Amino acid sequence: MDATIARAAAGKAIHLDQVTKIWGSTTAVDRLSIDIPAGSFTALLGPSGCGKSTTLRMIAGLETTDRGTIRIGHEDVTRKGCADRDLSMVFQSYALFPHLSVAENIVFGLKVRRMPKAERDGKLKQVADLLGLSALLDRKPAQLSGGQQQRVALGRAIIAQKPVCLMDEPLSNLDAKLRHEMRLEIRALQQQLGFTMVYVTHDQVEAITMADQVVLLNKGKLEQAAAPRVLYERPETPFAARFIGTPPMNLFPALIFEGFQGGQDLSLGIRPEALTLKKDGPLAGHVRAVEFLGADLLADCISGGTPFQVRLPAAASLTPGETAAFGFDTPDLHIFDKRSGRRRDDLTHEIGVHLQA
Ligand code: ADP
Ligand code: MG
Repeated sequence: MDATIARAAAGKAIHLDQVTKIWGSTTAVDRLSIDIPAGSFTALLGPSGCGKSTTLRMIAGLETTDRGTIRIGHEDVTRKGCADRDLSMVFQSYALFPHLSVAENIVFGLKVRRMPKAERDGKLKQVADLLGLSALLDRKPAQLSGGQQQRVALGRAIIAQKPVCLMDEPLSNLDAKLRHEMRLEIRALQQQLGFTMVYVTHDQVEAITMADQVVLLNKGKLEQAAAPRVLYERPETPFAARFIGTPPMNLFPALIFEGFQGGQDLSLGIRPEALTLKKDGPLAGHVRAVEFLGADLLADCISGGTPFQVRLPAAASLTPGETAAFGFDTPDLHIFDKRSGRRRDDLTHEIGVHLQA
C-alpha cells in the first residue's frame, strides 16, 4: 500500500462529556461521557433504540447536542456543523449514487473539493487496489454484489483521508459469511490507515471481534466501556453480563445453592461455558433438553425454578430427564448486588469457598 494514504489519515481522539439528547419526552442519550483514544477502534453497542445512532450522529454533527460537550482532537466541536468536523461516515444504506460509476462514486467528495484530476486519479488507484475494486471501476452500483457495494462505500470514506471515520451498522445488509469477511477487512483497514473509528452495531460478536474498546449502552445511558476481554471477564452489571457472550451468562438467586444462607440481595452469575459436570457439585439441575452443536453440547436445565444453560464438550454424557450436578471455578463466579446493580468482587472469594465446601 502507498504510504501517502496512511500518513494523512492519522487519527484524532474524541471525548464526550455528559452528552445528552432529548426528543420530546424521550431522553435518547443521557449524560454520556466516553473517551475514544486517537487511532483506536471503538464500538457503540446495545439493543435497538438504546441511542447508538443518535450518539454517532451527534459526534458527526448531524444532530444538535442538547447538553454536554463533544471534543475531537481536543477541539470543542459541539456547536460546529458536520462539514467542519473533518470526518467521514458510512451508513447502513450505502447511499451510492446509482447513475455514477464506481470510480465516480469513490472520488465524488474529492471532486466537490476541486482536487486536481491527476491527484484524484492517483488516490483512486490506491484505494481501488486496497479494496480489490480495480476491475470494477466502470460499473454502476446496480451491477455490483452487496459486498462490492459495501466496499465502494468504504472506498469513498477512506479516500477522503479523514482522521475520524464513523460507521452505523455498515454490514447489516450482508449475509453472515460476507459480514465475517468484511469485519476482518474493515478492522485491517483501520489498523493500516490509523484513523479513529467509531462503529455502531447491535451485534455483540461484531463489537467484541473488531473493537479495542466497546461502549455498551442501555436506554441512553452508559452501561460499561471497556476492552472486549474485560467486558467478558468482568462485566460491571447484570445487563453487561448477559449482553456479551452466547448463550448469555446464567444469573441465579443466591438461595438456589444448597446450604447457602443469606445473600437475598445478591445475584450469582456463571457463564454456560464455565460450568462442568461434577459429582456432588454445588449446583443441581434437572436437564430439560440437550442440543448437539458439533464441537460441543448445549444443555437446557432448571434448578429451583431458575432456568440455566450449560455448554459442555460434545463427548459429555447428559440425557434429558436426568438430574445432574455441576461445578465451577471460583474465579468464574460473578456476584452482583441487586440493589446497587453493581458487581461485588469483594465477595467472590468468600462465597466461592463457601459454595465449593
Ligand atoms: P439505536 O441506534 O441504538 O437503535 P437511536 O439512537 O436511533 O437508537 O434511537 C434512540 C431513541 O431516540 C429511540 O427511542 C428513538 O425512537 C428515539 N429517536 C431517534 N431519532 C429520533 C427522532 N428523529 N425523533 C424522535 N425520536 C427519535
Ligand atoms: Mg441505529
